[in-house]
Amino acid sequence: MADNRKDLLVVENLTMEFESAKRFLEKKKPSVKAVNDVSFAVKEGETFGLVGESGCGKTTLGKCVVRLLKPTAGKLMFNDDGEWKDLLDLKKQESFELRKKLQIVFQDPYAALNPQHTILEAFDEPMRVHGIGGKDKEARKKLIAEALTRVNLQPDYMYRYPHEFSGGQRQRICVAKALVLQPKMIICDEPVSALDVSVQAQLLNLMKKLQRELGITYIFIAHDLSVVQYMSDRIGVMYLGNMVELADADELYNNPMHPYTEALLSAVPVPVVNAKKERIILEGDVPSPMNPPSGCPFHPRCSKCMEICKQEKPALRETDQQHFIACHLYNGK
Ligand code: SF4
Repeated sequence: MADNRKDLLVVENLTMEFESAKRFLEKKKPSVKAVNDVSFAVKEGETFGLVGESGCGKTTLGKCVVRLLKPTAGKLMFNDDGEWKDLLDLKKQESFELRKKLQIVFQDPYAALNPQHTILEAFDEPMRVHGIGGKDKEARKKLIAEALTRVNLQPDYMYRYPHEFSGGQRQRICVAKALVLQPKMIICDEPVSALDVSVQAQLLNLMKKLQRELGITYIFIAHDLSVVQYMSDRIGVMYLGNMVELADADELYNNPMHPYTEALLSAVPVPVVNAKKERIILEGDVPSPMNPPSGCPFHPRCSKCMEICKQEKPALRETDQQHFIACHLYNGK
């Protein structure tokens, strides 16, 4: 079914390169492309999942979108109520205005909250800075109480300190802290991976409910494919800083095409007794991004590797049904 929702964020050829310290006898500083020429668009009100093994660049990409990192190259275009703005080329006031519209929820709810601040203090400061609730502290408290209620916490919890909450409650507080700034998009960076399995589902269902009620757009970053499938409308698969496959969530899970996606999905448990599933074991480790392989970045681990794969890097191309793939196996399609 065609998705007529408008694009909210367009990422064009985004590259994030880090320089590391120069070593003895080296002429120039070695560099690492954590994100390499990545392009995709996120639609208003959807959840766009980003998956891949640790170190594939998905968290770096999320940090670039909220501008915690300044990308080396590329464009980040944001649809600000019908007006397209380049997030990497904003005037000071525009940058300040857009900051509240793009929020991030981090993996570790313990590190995300200052242990010396009550929840009220933690919420109130960014609200004051961005003028949410005006100058009236009571009005801001009312908004904080509403945000806490939305995430199924008691309003009077605002007077407590972070250590008085469980991990799941803290993560809900982090979601409420993002919500109170009335964002258009939240980058969720592994939001449930530090939580017990028993509370992961609660938080995921809560985030879906908030999306239905408030129309928020999520970029959902995780390494757990079953979690990403549950949450996402569309999914991008990353490997060694590159986007290797992008498709609707159902299409990707029913018809994975890239050998790396096939291997990742083969490791997802099937919730059916005695169901047989052939597991594809990937040989070797992820290569060092400081010395990436020539050609296709996946070729040293790919069982379908051809001669061309060692020389030419495949571009991300559309095959069918909005299904994009970077693999020489599908170049003729
Ligand atoms: Fe494997 Fe070649 Fe496709 Fe890369 S381009 S995933 S090496 S078949």
